[in-house]
Amino acid sequence: MVRYKACRTCRALINGSKCPNCEKTDLTDNWNGLMIVLSPNDSMVAKEMEVKLPGCYAIHLR
Ligand SMILES: [Zn+2]
Repeated sequence: MVRYKACRTCRALINGSKCPNCEKTDLTDNWNGLMIVLSPNDSMVAKEMEVKLPGCYAIHLR
């Protein structure tokens, strides 16, 4: 089973080794909670988290 990793910078969940949102490679397996962002430009939460791309994001990083 594939375990998604979360980007430490923007919390995007990624199945790979590089974050497509901020292009960082600092990822972690230790995350909790899931938020799906469909339209980052319309979402207050997404703006707060500096989310630029639609996708799945972790709520908490450990
Ligand atoms: Zn990122």
